[in-house]
Parts: sequence; C-alpha cells; structure tokens
Amino acid sequence: MANKIQLRDYQIRGIEQLNNAIRRGNKRICWVFATGAGKSTITASYVKMCVNARKNVLFFVHSKELVAQFAQRLYRQFGINSGIIMAGVKPNRQLPVQVASVQTLVRRQLPQADIIFIDEAHRSKAKTYQKVIDNYLNAIIVGLTATPFRTDGQGLGDIFETIVHPVKIRELIQKGFLVPTKVYTSAQGVDMSGVKTIRGEYDNQEMMVRFSDNKVTSGVIQNYLKHAKDKKAIVFNVNVQHSIEMNALFNKQGITSAHIDGTTEKKTRDKIIRDFTIGKYKVLHNVKILTEGIDVPDTECVILNHATNSLGLYVQEVGRGLRPAKGKDNCIVLDHGDNTIRHGFVEDYDGVPFTLEGIDKVLKNKKEEALKTKVCNSCLTVNPSNQRHCKECNEPFPIKERTVEFTDGMEFIAIERDALIIDRLLNMPYEKIKGGVPASQLRLVAVLRGYQSKWWFHTAIDYRYVRVDKNHPNAFDQVLLLLKMEEIKAGTHELYKQIKLMKMAKAA
Ligand SMILES: [Zn+2]
Repeated sequence: MANKIQLRDYQIRGIEQLNNAIRRGNKRICWVFATGAGKSTITASYVKMCVNARKNVLFFVHSKELVAQFAQRLYRQFGINSGIIMAGVKPNRQLPVQVASVQTLVRRQLPQADIIFIDEAHRSKAKTYQKVIDNYLNAIIVGLTATPFRTDGQGLGDIFETIVHPVKIRELIQKGFLVPTKVYTSAQGVDMSGVKTIRGEYDNQEMMVRFSDNKVTSGVIQNYLKHAKDKKAIVFNVNVQHSIEMNALFNKQGITSAHIDGTTEKKTRDKIIRDFTIGKYKVLHNVKILTEGIDVPDTECVILNHATNSLGLYVQEVGRGLRPAKGKDNCIVLDHGDNTIRHGFVEDYDGVPFTLEGIDKVLKNKKEEALKTKVCNSCLTVNPSNQRHCKECNEPFPIKERTVEFTDGMEFIAIERDALIIDRLLNMPYEKIKGGVPASQLRLVAVLRGYQSKWWFHTAIDYRYVRVDKNHPNAFDQVLLLLKMEEIKAGTHELYKQIKLMKMAKAA
C-alpha cells in the first residue's frame, strides 16, 4: 500500500530532528509533541521508515484500547501489519513491528527490537516500564509525550538523555491546527485554601466537599448556559460520585448529558462516546479518563470542575477541546478550579524549552513571566497579566502603583513593573551592572545611581551594547540614539525621562 499520508511541515521537521538526535549518538530520546500535533501519525510514519530500513520496531502503550488504535492506524495509514502482544490476542512474532500493552509485555518473552517507542512516556517511571526498558541496552528508545514530566513534576532524566521538541503549541494555533482558548472563571469560585495535599495533589475527599457545595454546582451549570449553551462540552469532575451527581444535575436542567468512568463497560462506553460524537449528548461527564484516546473535534467547551496541581493533567484536559472544527473559533474553558491561574494558559505551557530535570526548573522563570494571569472583575475572563484592558469586554484593569524610595530619600510613585525595575537597579551590586542589565536600562541605572553620562557612554561601547567607534566625532550622539531606541522598544524611556526630570528639579 502506498503511503497516503501527507505530513505537515512541522511533522517533517520533527522526524528530521529525531534523526539528527540519533545521528549524534543519542539512544534514549524524549520526543515531545503538543496535544493535537498528530503525535500518532508522525510516529506511525516513522515506524514505516524503520520498516523500510529493515529494522525491528516495538511500540508499547499502557492500555489495551491504545494497542488496538495504534495497530489499526499503522495498517490504515501505512499498510503495515503488526504483531499484537496483549492478553487474549494470538501473537505473531515474525512481523517486524510489534505493538504491545506494557502489562502483557512485562510477563512475556520480549521481542527483538532495534527501536522502541514508549507512548505517554511521562508514565515511564512506573516499574513495569523500567523492567522492559532495562532489557534493551542497545536499542534506540523514543519516548512520546506532550508533557515531559511526571504528575509530581519530576523530570524524565533518569530514562532519557535528550529532548526533541519540534513544535510548540503557539505555532500549531497560528497555523490553524489547533484553536486558542477563551477562559472564564466562575463568580462562585471554589476556595481551595486549607485543602491538604497528598503527594502534591489536592486531597480528593476534601476537594469533593468544596465542589459539592450547592452554590458551586449550580454555578457550573449557569456558567455553561451563559458561555457555551448548546455547545458540546466535556466536564472533568473531582471523582466518580461527583461526576454522577453533576450528570444528574445537568440532565435535570434539560441539558442532555452522560457520564462515563473507569468501570463503565467498554460497549456502553463506546456507545456513549459515539452518541456524544453525533450530538445526542451535549455534555459528557467523567473524572480523568477522557484525557487520552478520545477525539471529538467539535467539542467547543471544556469544563474544569476540579482543581489540580498537575500541569500535565490540566494540559491534557484542556487539550480535548483544542482541535479545530467547522464554525469553531476557540475552545471555551470554564475553569471552576482556578487551574488557569495556577498553571497559566495552555497556550504558554511549552513556551519555555523543556528540560529533563522536571517542571520546577522548567517553570521557574516562566511562572514569573508568561504564566501570570489576572481575572477581569466585570466579565470574569482570564487575561494574560500584561493586558491593560480585558481582551473580552475591554474593561480597563486597575493599574497597581506603589511608592519607591531612592537612596537620597526621594520618593517616586511607579506602576508595579517599573517599581520592580527600579528596585532591581538600585540594589544590584556594582560589579554585576556592566553587562548585567539590558541596554534599555543603562541610562536608567546611571540616573538612579547618580553616574555621569560618560559612564553609560563608555559602558555601552566597552561592554558591546552598541557597536560604535569611540573615536568617531559623533560617537556620543550615536550611542545616545541607540540606547534611546532600546528604551523606547522596551518601554523604559518614559520612566528614564521622569526620573531624570525629578533629579534635575531637586538639584536646581
Ligand atoms: Zn472583561
């Protein structure tokens, strides 16, 4: 069968980058694709290339359903017959490609493999995975995931040597392969303060008490009717009991909805998902099970009816609503657990390069910058923190100001961002300043600390902030112009002018 699949540009890039990593001698590679990037298609395509190169491939996943799904995909998209290693299925060990469930694999004789793919590699710390991997010292091991860290935030550095991350979620949105989110919180916000955490995650029983409050449950329904009426929605609840109760409440309000959980029989579950797909149900309730393996692109709304400290889980849940569909401009997220405020927008979660060291290291800088959000008081839309007006209703955000005191006792009222810059520049040790502050703050640091203009002139040239010949007759004006341009670009020019004027007035 001919290869019918046309790969997208970033998918081809992903394959090239994986090949480069292998060529550089890496044997254990974490291959990261954002939710919705088409990870399975790319992998299947790569498997095809391996088969053509006469390599033996082992692909293993954590659930029976995913075994069947991937084997079918290999056949449908690339005409590859694969052996299945799974309880109740007759093995065919002769075939070069084996698709296995990890639970069965660990109990049977392991197949020969030159290259191994681990699906949902963020689970790979589990002993069963490790046991399998340990048997393949010479094979190339490729871990697939959208979130290269475990639920507790730990990295995957114990298993993998390097990360290949060919496409970020922002690019997928820009190119129309995913839709952006539009997030609303609720007026009946759930207060999670004082809820204890167990291994990093909120205690389920305590969380249940807070989310079962009548005001909260009716708020979920009101919010759905207000922002996503008649739209297909997936609701992620606290636990099974909560999910069943929420389902009953939705139906009582005349919103056709259904519930599934881990104990729902496969036949029933498949039927419910099919009915949801064709629109017989508007709303589908569950706990965590719809985070993988369901693909209903016209799901326009995701309701987070729980709180989680797991960035991975949050990303997977919102990810269910990100696929594009006809007439769909965005994914409405009704966040009743302040998860967006806790983790930032899904659009930003892979904005900073991932590392194998885990989430704390990855997010340390990001949490301070991009991940910050604020909620509009008038319409409850969650906005990026740098927004001056609400992106939804255009209501201006109150500007936070505070007084900064200079060393000479002078006081200056600045907005928070400027106040932070001033504090930093005033407190920085002298030896760190040169080369340590951006060009846009060089004149600011001088005026704040009382250095002459020749200080920033020489610093700018000596520390290569600008490329100007010191001996040129116009050198000073050139440096001044270049620094001014940097200030205007970075938004520090006005601040510089204000402080300069103030200092001059005082000196006069
Ligand atoms: Zn607003």
